[in-house]
Amino acid sequence: MQCQTVLPGTECTFWGKQGCVFSGGSCHLIAENCEGCDRIVEGSIGKVCSAYPAPIKKWTSGICNFATHVKVEIKSEELKVNPLKASKKASGGKKK
Ligand code: SF4
Repeated sequence: MQCQTVLPGTECTFWGKQGCVFSGGSCHLIAENCEGCDRIVEGSIGKVCSAYPAPIKKWTSGICNFATHVKVEIKSEELKVNPLKASKKASGGKKK
């Protein structure tokens, strides 16, 4: 159903017949680490996340997996690892 409080008119799975059923009855404000993320939207209570209602929780065990502003860092790490894996696979696969 559509939110009628923080992001009026936005489809949200937490909005029901009794209103918002998320913890505290509302989305939570973004975390400090969220600054720069493209998923930040301006809600009636301030900046909130369009992808997850409790942004602080997304950062408690590392980098938020929905974040758009830190993805590049993650990818560059993966790129550093992948050529090695590819090299090992290539050399291991040459048995004849
Ligand atoms: S996607 Fe993650 S980093 Fe971006 S605003 Fe939402 S909680 Fe914050």
